[in-house]
Amino acid sequence: AEETPIKKVILVTGGTGLVGQAIKKVVDEGLALPNEEWIFLASKDCDLTSYEATKALFDKHSPTHVIHLAAMVGGLFANMRQNLEFFRMNMAMNDNVLRCCHEGNVIKCVSCLSTCIFPDKTTYPIDETMVHSGPPHDSNFGYAYAKRMIDVLNRGYSTQYGRMFTSVVPCNVFGPYDNYSLENAHVLPALMHKCYLAKQHDTPLTTFGTGKPRRQFIYSLDLARLFVWVLRKYEEVDPIILSVGEEEEVSITDAVNAVVKGMDFKGEIVYDTSKADGQFKKTASIGKLRKYLPDFKFTPFEQAVKESCEWFVENYDSARK
Ligand code: NDP
Repeated sequence: AEETPIKKVILVTGGTGLVGQAIKKVVDEGLALPNEEWIFLASKDCDLTSYEATKALFDKHSPTHVIHLAAMVGGLFANMRQNLEFFRMNMAMNDNVLRCCHEGNVIKCVSCLSTCIFPDKTTYPIDETMVHSGPPHDSNFGYAYAKRMIDVLNRGYSTQYGRMFTSVVPCNVFGPYDNYSLENAHVLPALMHKCYLAKQHDTPLTTFGTGKPRRQFIYSLDLARLFVWVLRKYEEVDPIILSVGEEEEVSITDAVNAVVKGMDFKGEIVYDTSKADGQFKKTASIGKLRKYLPDFKFTPFEQAVKESCEWFVENYDSARK
């Protein structure tokens, strides 16, 4: 007879955020299996920068699996202002979560790196072997080094204790429940918010920088499906890049145009070139992902941007901004 699958308790830190809410949606809409209990956490459930609070949380839920998303996250300008805080907060959360995963005998933990933590001076495309190959861009060194230390922790827990703690490396994520703050947000949600206001007030849409930098953007719901696959099937400690392909990379100008279309904005667009551009590109290879999942289909960029714009307009009052 077939064995009954073990009951899994899957704890998702950062469950209220952009990625957490996307995972919740795909799980609620059918990806969850009968033997799985999914728990999505907010920061008010537990301050993960405190070891005692994190320990109490793990004692309460006894997770068998953890998806660790919680982080202090922000766009270029927030990072430039607060590199030290980005480093300290994220180091604390990552150390506490992985330590509690170890102490609580968690079977598998998947944490989150980011393509913006790779070396600034590098060859393209970037791949998973290059996480530690040189200093990150100056603009976000605090966030970048804290993220890189997740990989160090994973290696340590694996080599010393045989733990299966791994990480994924998403490119820029966007979608419902994003942070739309005009000061601190990532480029797409910031553009959506500015475009919304420009449309309301009949003013030009002012975007920062030259528009020339290039980025890969993944729709949060596509990333969520990939996350669930990683949790169930990916058995390497080494990270795996979760991104759209190199051929899907777009310029910031392309992103602006997609938002303008998604918002149905007819006004003028102004590029404020006195503002920083950030890293010119960080093109990542998805060769590893394609080896595992050759047929995974991504939502077309313009469609995903349009859906995200619609979500923002419909949820303007409650959206984070
Ligand atoms: P969000 O900013 O949308 O969400 C952050 C989450 O972390 C929230 O649920 C927040 O809880 C929680 N959190 C923050 N501080 C604490 C704390 N001290 N204790 C407990 N929980 C805390 O982030 P994203 O969903 O965008 O990011 C998820 C992961 O993906 C992060 O690890 C990020 O680094 C990574 N990533 C994101 C990318 C992106 O483009 N957005 C790109 C690549 C990687 P609450 O809301 O309840 O306060």
